[in-house]
Amino acid sequence: MTIKDMGIRETAVVSRVGGEGALRQHFLDMGVIPGAEVTVVKFAPMGDPVELKIHGYELTLRLEDAAKIEVEAVKEKSSVGGKERRVRKTEHPGLGEGGLYHIRSGGAKEEPVTEGKTLTFALVGNQNSGKTTLFNRLTGSNQHVGNFPGVTVDRKDGPIQGYKDTLVTDLPGIYSMSPYSSEEIVSRNFVLNEKPDGIINIVDATNIERNLYLTMQLLEMGVPMVVALNMMDEVTANGGSIDVNAMEAQLGVPVVPVSAAKNEGVAELVDHAVHVARYREKPLRQDFCLEDANGGAVHRCLHAVAHLIEDHAEKAGLPVRFAASKVVEGDRLILSRLMLDKNECETIEHIVLQMEAERGLDRSAAVADMRFAFIQRVCGETVVKPGESRERVRSERIDRFLTGKYTAIPAFIGIMGLVFFLTFNVIGAWLQDLLAMGIDALSALADRAMTAAGVNDVIHGLIIDGIFAGVGSVLSFLPVIVTLFFFLSLLEDSGYIARVAFFMDKLLRKIGLSGRSIVPMLIGFGCTVPAVMATRTLPSERDRKMTILLTPFMSCSAKVPIYSFFIAAFFPKGGWLVMTGLYLLGILWAILIAFLFKGTLFRGEAAPFVMELPNYRMPGARNVAQLLWEKAKDFLQRAFSVILIATIVVWFLQSFDLTLNSASDPENSILAIIAGVLVPVMKPLGLGDWRICTSLISGFMAKESVVSTMEILFGGSIGAVLTPLTAAALLVFSLLYTPCVAAVASVRRELGGKWAVGVVVWQCLIAWCAALLVRVILLLAGVA
Ligand code: GDP
Ligand code: MG
Repeated sequence: MTIKDMGIRETAVVSRVGGEGALRQHFLDMGVIPGAEVTVVKFAPMGDPVELKIHGYELTLRLEDAAKIEVEAVKEKSSVGGKERRVRKTEHPGLGEGGLYHIRSGGAKEEPVTEGKTLTFALVGNQNSGKTTLFNRLTGSNQHVGNFPGVTVDRKDGPIQGYKDTLVTDLPGIYSMSPYSSEEIVSRNFVLNEKPDGIINIVDATNIERNLYLTMQLLEMGVPMVVALNMMDEVTANGGSIDVNAMEAQLGVPVVPVSAAKNEGVAELVDHAVHVARYREKPLRQDFCLEDANGGAVHRCLHAVAHLIEDHAEKAGLPVRFAASKVVEGDRLILSRLMLDKNECETIEHIVLQMEAERGLDRSAAVADMRFAFIQRVCGETVVKPGESRERVRSERIDRFLTGKYTAIPAFIGIMGLVFFLTFNVIGAWLQDLLAMGIDALSALADRAMTAAGVNDVIHGLIIDGIFAGVGSVLSFLPVIVTLFFFLSLLEDSGYIARVAFFMDKLLRKIGLSGRSIVPMLIGFGCTVPAVMATRTLPSERDRKMTILLTPFMSCSAKVPIYSFFIAAFFPKGGWLVMTGLYLLGILWAILIAFLFKGTLFRGEAAPFVMELPNYRMPGARNVAQLLWEKAKDFLQRAFSVILIATIVVWFLQSFDLTLNSASDPENSILAIIAGVLVPVMKPLGLGDWRICTSLISGFMAKESVVSTMEILFGGSIGAVLTPLTAAALLVFSLLYTPCVAAVASVRRELGGKWAVGVVVWQCLIAWCAALLVRVILLLAGVA
């Protein structure tokens, strides 16, 4: 029997884990190992994926993957760990009190890091363990956001508040140090190559077993480390407790109970972190394979390999124990870094084969099992688990509605509808008007001041018609973007987005994407810029690229003025039909293109969908505020760099003729001449008019300016130039042609210049073909 065949609420024990490569390692890292107990919680409304409970947390898997995990019926139901034990409250000792830290046996000399050298820390933890919350607590607002070298994964760092000469870097949320996802590689390389002075490992104490799995691997790195047991407020509120001192003794590093959200224990955590880093106190224990466990096969294998590779690891600058575990797991990257000779490789293979035979498990499963066995022992001795946490019960209740069979999709549509309504019609729109008014007032003021001061006409024009009009119009989008991000971060931090990915996965897989791509696509209806930025949360590079290339097909809000303008002029009757039709046409194209991509550029499968469903939690105000500030800053930086330059260029082309004299007639401007080149190209679409071409070019700056440019150039006589037939072609063209500069700039930031140019060319090509198609169809249908 496999998990796929299990019924709802049925419990079974994993007997064999199939699959291969990244997927299989992911299974193991998430705790799906032989001997683990799984319970099926529910199936997504469309029947796939399935939600499971394992090691006390919720995991989702696709049915097709679930079929690779064999299970057998439980013989006797294991008791809920240590329920009968008394809840003890243990005080956590301060620095040095417990006797564990800062012992130098035999009076060995202390070797503190020299004063004045910056102590660097890596903040590592699972997703949703409270990393962002803790990071914001540690650094306050004093942080720097960038990318890790070579990859577009967010890199945030900043000094710890109150400690000069410190720098903490927030690493991507990971579950393991396997080299399978870009996040894992980034985190692992950061620790291996940049050699931080200390690691702050954040552990979600409400889900301690799964979280300690990463801790085991971090301890092997031999870097001074502290464990932050986060969410302790929830643990204690539910009657659970953790014997911190005993856990410390078992792990050999300081363990500090904290609540990042309530700012409890954070100061103590920092004390310990700075202390271990300053005095270079490495974990006292790196060896977790128990001699007596399961015949000791894994223990013997790991130690034999460790001895064998010791000198190579030292030469390669790798921690020995870490390298040994990875070699036993079959990690090729580490193996090649060690530069072993043929004999040594063969010996290792023999040792591993022997272990597999003795242990009855393959190499990766045996190592994962060893880690979980140790964790289980530690938790058995130190953790008193609450029966059922209130947060869990609450989450289940909410999920009955939000991921219920019949309610999930209507609820989703309702929530997204509300978010867009509030963003584009109420809050964001109101703020936008306010800002636009402010910009207008400022621009009028500057206008008057320059007139009064008798500033040169050209400079005057540049500032008012170029910079103020161009940057101002882009700037007025800031409130909408910030409001949209406000709602989306609420949805994300509360845990809802993970659920959306869960129930939309089946649908999106049909076009070669995974459930997580739904979020950027939805944001795309608002604005492509934040949509492209939102793809950073996608786990696979292939999915991310594909999603970025598809988002521009979702009609962004700036295209609404174009639609309304032409509908009012040419299709007064059945306007909403045209409007809906345009939105649907965009989606339809996206689906077609996705199919095309799936068969060509992005062959292969969407990323495996092995995802945790965290409990619903109230997002922290600090986190949200910090995020909004970051997004706003990002947007402003762009508005005053790329967009400013582009605005000046267009203004220049529009204002001067080829002799570089101020153009007396717009038809003589350089822009009109450039647009003239496009006239023959647009002729087949019935759009061979320089004014239309100019408007479309200006739409590259911002889509709204298509309408404003047309109004200036046609002066209200648009009906004389266009017919419903050509208007339809123009609408389709506007729907699909190149995204605006702001969007292209964000594509460039995510994928690089080549892709950005590609998007512009490719979208124009598609738009041209689609517009021609629509024209031909309408002509055949007899529309004149
Ligand atoms: P990340 O995914 O690791 O960055 O986790 P976040 O910092 O975004 O936190 C995930 C959720 O847990 C958010 O809704 C936080 O408000 C919440 N959270 C973080 N720390 C704590 C804590 O100590 N106690 C409680 N009750 N909630 C917390
Ligand atoms: Mg986070």
